[in-house]
Amino acid sequence: MFSIYHMSEYWYCPRACLYYVLREDYHAHENKDYIRGIIEHDKINVRGDRYKFGVHQIKQFEIYSDHLNLAGKLDILEIKNGECYPVELKKGSQRKAPQIIIQIKLQIMVLEDFLNIPVNKGYASFSAPHERLLITLDEDEKRELRQKLIRIQINLEQNDRFMLFPRVNDHRCDKCSFHKNCYY
Ligand code: SF4
Repeated sequence: MFSIYHMSEYWYCPRACLYYVLREDYHAHENKDYIRGIIEHDKINVRGDRYKFGVHQIKQFEIYSDHLNLAGKLDILEIKNGECYPVELKKGSQRKAPQIIIQIKLQIMVLEDFLNIPVNKGYASFSAPHERLLITLDEDEKRELRQKLIRIQINLEQNDRFMLFPRVNDHRCDKCSFHKNCYY
């Protein structure tokens, strides 16, 4: 199963998505300390409930979808007037970066499958100043995104995946954490 966050990086750079997935595979299979680290991290991020202005918020809500082959953790699951939607917390000012928007869209689809109820919106909540970006998703977009996900996940398993996930070689590389080791 792939991580929602790692999959969303495809929309920043396909090669970065591949590196994340390969790194996760390596750590998951070769490094027991990494797995211990995840367990310790999960102990710190204890799931918590709270009510704020009539809105029920559940922090660190884990979701997965067998159909989409995706899993992740919502920063906040909000429940308001019977409607459920994800809220992703982001540092800095509001920006419409493609990978942020896709991350929320994937969360919407996984949450919908996980809870088996319609979910059509989510928010990115930015810290400075505190403001929210509404992201919606209709049925046509969900269908399109589902098909794209299948194609990406198939390509991630191919032997020639480094060809299928090309380097972008542009301004994005300067800000990328893989910059020093992006050779292929
Ligand atoms: S260094 Fe550039 S090409 Fe390589 S993963 Fe990062 S953004 Fe992609």
